[in-house]
Amino acid sequence: MSAVVLENVIIISVVPPHNDNDMDVKLWPWNSMGGFTVAETYRRIAGFHMHHDLQSWKQIWRIESAGRVKVFLWQDFHDRLLNNWRMARWNLKSPYCSYCGHLEETTCHVLRDFPLANIIWSHLVDIQHRGSTVWSTTCFWIWKWRNARVHNTNLQEPW
Ligand SMILES: [Zn+2]
Repeated sequence: MSAVVLENVIIISVVPPHNDNDMDVKLWPWNSMGGFTVAETYRRIAGFHMHHDLQSWKQIWRIESAGRVKVFLWQDFHDRLLNNWRMARWNLKSPYCSYCGHLEETTCHVLRDFPLANIIWSHLVDIQHRGSTVWSTTCFWIWKWRNARVHNTNLQEPW
């Protein structure tokens, strides 16, 4: 096999098939049996690898929380929650937090570092008793409260 490079075009020459060789077989590299599936191709293109995706979902599914909390966690795990940082990547908004101003509004900022979220974590949840149910539900409601605060001007603050 030899390759000839013409500017940005690569032409690869391959030895032509010979009658003494085995028959050609179609193989899809992303399937152990060589078969093509749309689902596996989508997962690969989207960046979801089967094993990783199933493992994360199993871990999330074991948490004793409401289904909507589990879906929220799954979205967070796959970095799919819509925050200013993500919208800035699409040129829709500034990446900075609407309240802090100088810090990027990532999901971690909203759920952990935002000053009011920080107060909730430090007062509501004792580190010794921080179970996955309390943790996941608290994350979910901080996110919901934060979105309501951004989008609902009539929201009554709990303090
Ligand atoms: Zn902030």
